[in-house]
Amino acid sequence: MYNVRVRFAPSPTGPLHLGGVRTALFNYLFAKKNKGTFILRIEDTDQARWVEGAEEYIREALEWAGITPDEGSGYGGIYGPYRQSDRKEIYQKHIQTLLNNQNAYYAFDTPEELETLREAADKNGETFTYNYKNRKHLKTSLALNPQEVEELLKNNTPYVIRFKIPAGENLRFHDLIRGNLSVDTSTLDDKVLMKNDGMPTYHLANIVDDHEMAISHVIRGEEWLPSLPLHILMYSAFGWNAPQFAHLPLILKPEGKGKLSKRDGDKHGFPVFPLEWKSETGISPGYREEGYLPQAFLNMLALLGWNPGTDQEIFSLEQLAQNFDLNKVSKSGARFNPEKSIWFNHQYLQMMDNEEITQEFQKLLNSKSISTNDKFDSQIVNLLKERASFVKDIWNEGQFFYESPKNYDPKGLEKVWKPDTAQILKDFLQFDIQDFTTDQIQQSIQEFVKTKAIGMGKIMMPLRMAMVGALHGPDIPHVMEILGKEEVYKRIQSFILFGDKKD
Ligand code: GLU
Repeated sequence: MYNVRVRFAPSPTGPLHLGGVRTALFNYLFAKKNKGTFILRIEDTDQARWVEGAEEYIREALEWAGITPDEGSGYGGIYGPYRQSDRKEIYQKHIQTLLNNQNAYYAFDTPEELETLREAADKNGETFTYNYKNRKHLKTSLALNPQEVEELLKNNTPYVIRFKIPAGENLRFHDLIRGNLSVDTSTLDDKVLMKNDGMPTYHLANIVDDHEMAISHVIRGEEWLPSLPLHILMYSAFGWNAPQFAHLPLILKPEGKGKLSKRDGDKHGFPVFPLEWKSETGISPGYREEGYLPQAFLNMLALLGWNPGTDQEIFSLEQLAQNFDLNKVSKSGARFNPEKSIWFNHQYLQMMDNEEITQEFQKLLNSKSISTNDKFDSQIVNLLKERASFVKDIWNEGQFFYESPKNYDPKGLEKVWKPDTAQILKDFLQFDIQDFTTDQIQQSIQEFVKTKAIGMGKIMMPLRMAMVGALHGPDIPHVMEILGKEEVYKRIQSFILFGDKKD
């Protein structure tokens, strides 16, 4: 048995996208399922796209979600360094192997020369590709004689190093999700492996590192599938065994067509990043800050492209790891459903015990400088939790418990306030309710309407307005019990005063 070692290899070019977290999650699950190692490698060879704070963000997001790497940048390990910009010498050594065995070559074309070639091809309705057809005629170490090449190098002439794709081969390879694939190598272009500044490109660094870090399985997004033939050819040029590959399906827009983008999130009002991201262009919302529970977030992501083959939808992280199977990952894109994320959060909130929710709710109260009271707050949580998908919903629905109504909803008022309302409420205040519990309050209201020979709405609606300030909210006798007799009477009096003034 070989060791399962998988890596999540993001480029620190900004915040992680949902798709990135899903890739990390599937790698994590595969590692856990196979008692393997989950590694974080930072692919920062493209220095122009490097963004300050992105690497830290990646770690914070993985940790918040609960899928902390076992090894990697920021986590240590014997295969380090795990940041590509710290591994330059390693790539230098390996590119030399490819040059020596004629699988790579120098290309000295200037950007202007390449542009001219592109324009010429365009004119003929063709696309210029650097490949087997022209590499022997361009300014390459394949075309020039060794002395000329040496001269150019000695004079520090700018160059890149390209991979020499063999022409006319039918390359067969395998993907764990997509099955057997093949490609005619003549359709591939000679990709740049090393740039003039001595920095490797993604392709070189990625292959070298996967080999050097003993990666057994490469699990990554579908967008890398077109690079797979090149990668397979590179492994064989180095004489290395290639890892196994699995390319995950795209996450699609809620409408079903096209890749999910940040713009879709803005349009529909859902986050596409795990954590909030602040940049010069503004603040992008994050699942954490929106009040999502990490377990709900992961559970939702797990089902984007993977299905357990049963109807079960709720899985703890351990259960996901036990059940995860690359064979059950679909080839076709997975449509993102923002309502389903809310549904998951609702389910997970309901699974939390009251005490835990109350603690979270009290954090929210503190942030609003509202003093907390364990008994009172937990009663409110208990009453409102069932309808809540987020802790903030408990606040939105239960704010009136903490602040007596200052204004009354005008529409509700119009419906409720009748010439006899003030008198009914005054009489109700006289109606002594001994034991101020939901049941007793309920009974007393019933007795009251009987004695007064009025309809239930005549007292219930005004009471609701008095307590909540509007005609919505939870069961009124229950609300009254939580508020307590004194506060209830105060609110009724305030409402009478308000109504009287209105008349
Ligand atoms: N650095 C690549 C990315 O940003 C990694 C691709 C791969 O996993 O090979 O997605």
